Amino acid sequence: MVEVIDDDFMVCTDCLMIIANDDASGLDYSLDEETEGREQEIREAIAEIQREEGQIAVGDSGRDDELSSSPCACCGTRLVGARHHFVILGCGRER
Ligand SMILES: [Zn+2]
Repeated sequence: MVEVIDDDFMVCTDCLMIIANDDASGLDYSLDEETEGREQEIREAIAEIQREEGQIAVGDSGRDDELSSSPCACCGTRLVGARHHFVILGCGRER
């Protein structure tokens, strides 16, 4: 039984790429070291959410926000930009 435990998990484009494609090559930073730190930060945030809450799954692209200043639900960035809709699935957890 898979249950949606968070139906409004809005993440930035950087997190989208890592969650959906496991690919950080699109992170657009001029310095390699900075990109590495950023990727690390995002991967840690994802791992923590998966440990504490559940699986992050791609949501409804119709609910994406093209321009938002809300903090990313994953890495917490407040950079204004697109936010993509994801959901958190609580998999196989007994209640
Ligand atoms: Zn993010």
